[in-house]
Amino acid sequence: MIGIIAAMSLEMGHLRTHMNNPVSETISGISFVRGRIGQQEVVTAVCGIGKVFAALCAQTMILRYAPSCIINTGVAGTLTSELSIGHLAVSSCVVQHDMDTSAIGDPVGLISGINVIEIPADKTLISRLCDCANALQIPTLTGCIASGDQFVANPGRKTYIADTFSAIACEMEGAAIGQVCYVNHIPFCVLRAISDSADGSSHMDYPVFSKMAADQSVRLLLAYLNE
Ligand code: SAH
Repeated sequence: MIGIIAAMSLEMGHLRTHMNNPVSETISGISFVRGRIGQQEVVTAVCGIGKVFAALCAQTMILRYAPSCIINTGVAGTLTSELSIGHLAVSSCVVQHDMDTSAIGDPVGLISGINVIEIPADKTLISRLCDCANALQIPTLTGCIASGDQFVANPGRKTYIADTFSAIACEMEGAAIGQVCYVNHIPFCVLRAISDSADGSSHMDYPVFSKMAADQSVRLLLAYLNE
């Protein structure tokens, strides 16, 4: 069974309408819907915004449904000129750009306890998602995706995150899901379509382009699930 998490119902889009024999339950306010898409058993969840909801959702999904892997689908701000609105970012790894204990000597972004900054995504998932994107001819870049409890809409913060972590996209959930998967030894990957440029124009771009971008990510996921 493949686990699929989106933060917002906008990002789940029409994915659930492709599901055969859906069975729903709500746990801690999060709706989980399990069913079959193509030949694939899936469990989907809309977790809510930010790292806490994302972690809560991923851990619950793992304990309740034992997925063999988790894919986080959704939208993100771009951190590089190589990714424009509507293009796809596939995570090679995830980082938490707002995790910072550097005042007491740690490197910025270090997750104490597991003592890593970059949490690696699963190589097989990365290459299969990229193959599907190529087949659909959607421009796609693989790289580090940075998460934090902050909508990035400021050129200074954008440059800081891009430079500090060599990150290609920023969002608010992927690295929380990645951390939960890491400690549970579950392969994961974050797939995000670009909705905005994470700078001064983001507050205008996001409302216009988030739906189109979210649909692009779902389109790729459906291709992957129907392989
Ligand atoms: N109150 C709004 C909040 C949306 S936050 C709501 O409930 O709809 C924006 C979402 O899109 C987050 O889930 C985040 O993962 C993603 N996102 C898109 N562009 C982003 C950016 N520039 N910075 C951070 N997150 C971004």
